[in-house]
Amino acid sequence: MTKDFYTKLAEIRHRIHAHPEVSENEFETTAFLKEYISNLGIRILETELPTGFIAEIGHGKPVIALRADIDALPIKERNTFEYASKNGAMHACGHDFHQTSLLGAAELLKAQEGQLNGTIRLIFQPAEEVSVGAYQVIENGGLKDVSAIIGYHNYPHLKPGEIGLRSKAIMAAVDKFKVTISGVSGHAARPDFGTDTVLAITTIVNNAQAIISRTVSPFESAVLSVTHIDVGSTWNVMPESGYFEGTMRSFSPETRQHLRDAFTRVVENTPDQFNASVEIEWGRTPTVTFNDEILTPLIFEHSKQFAKVVEVEPLTIGEDFAAYQEKIPGVFALIGSNGDADAADLHHDTFTVKDEALPTAVQYFVENALYLLDYFAKTQKA
Ligand SMILES: [Zn+2]
Ligand SMILES: [Zn+2]
Repeated sequence: MTKDFYTKLAEIRHRIHAHPEVSENEFETTAFLKEYISNLGIRILETELPTGFIAEIGHGKPVIALRADIDALPIKERNTFEYASKNGAMHACGHDFHQTSLLGAAELLKAQEGQLNGTIRLIFQPAEEVSVGAYQVIENGGLKDVSAIIGYHNYPHLKPGEIGLRSKAIMAAVDKFKVTISGVSGHAARPDFGTDTVLAITTIVNNAQAIISRTVSPFESAVLSVTHIDVGSTWNVMPESGYFEGTMRSFSPETRQHLRDAFTRVVENTPDQFNASVEIEWGRTPTVTFNDEILTPLIFEHSKQFAKVVEVEPLTIGEDFAAYQEKIPGVFALIGSNGDADAADLHHDTFTVKDEALPTAVQYFVENALYLLDYFAKTQKA
């Protein structure tokens, strides 16, 4: 990457960082990105996406998709550098970095459009943080004719120039539950006349903690956390109802299903004992980010040409890129974006990405897109 191009991309990232927009409100961000992409002469597809958009370089099959998310978080930024956000939202997950690298990749790929062995589809995805953006893209035909999709998340605990990758799960399946227990309220002195919703809730919470320790293989990882209980308001009344909520994380589609089934059984089997009724609500949350077992080793090897590639443990956070991987093969990497020992984590109000990480992210898109176009051109002809 030339020095001028690097400087231009760093300035673009700073501009985007200074003007963050939260999920489903990325209107100015979308306008800015669209203008940049159409100034490059790249065609933008007609869709009904309210925010975000899809564009294409090249012609015909195969089609390889590159995805960057564009939304920010409702966090007040505490960084003090000059391009820090002042509008109450913040690119605290580094999606400013993701979209800038895709602009950079688009520019480099457009310059060699004549030699492309197919089509590169650029997906500027909205609303990742609320787990709806990937579904919107899919509903708008974003994966039509696509052979494979590539994405990444910046990762502050790897250095610029490093890429973390692994086959199968790289980010967790996230489940969010809320359980409401209802019964008959009564005097604390006569529990036999009413329902002890407090004891029903705490019994379920206790029993739920046996799911992972007693029913999941010791060689499989999973997490179950109850983080919020709301029941009752005073000392001498048994409350009529209450609820608790929390989350589960897992790393394979099978374990995820097992956890949901086991949790449902524990919750539904307990209330009888207390003469209570129960209702479970599941949030709309991403399934496991599951890297394709054929393409991931190829991208792992190929990326060594321009980066230090390391095998990483999966992260316990979730990512809606998983929705694409449920439909087609996909590879999702972690790209080093800071690497300092005291680097703030994702979603922190002092989260900071280093510009020096940009060239590796751009190359990850460009080099692997070209590589997969050739790969699928060959395998589809054969
Ligand atoms: Zn995030
Ligand atoms: Zn993110």
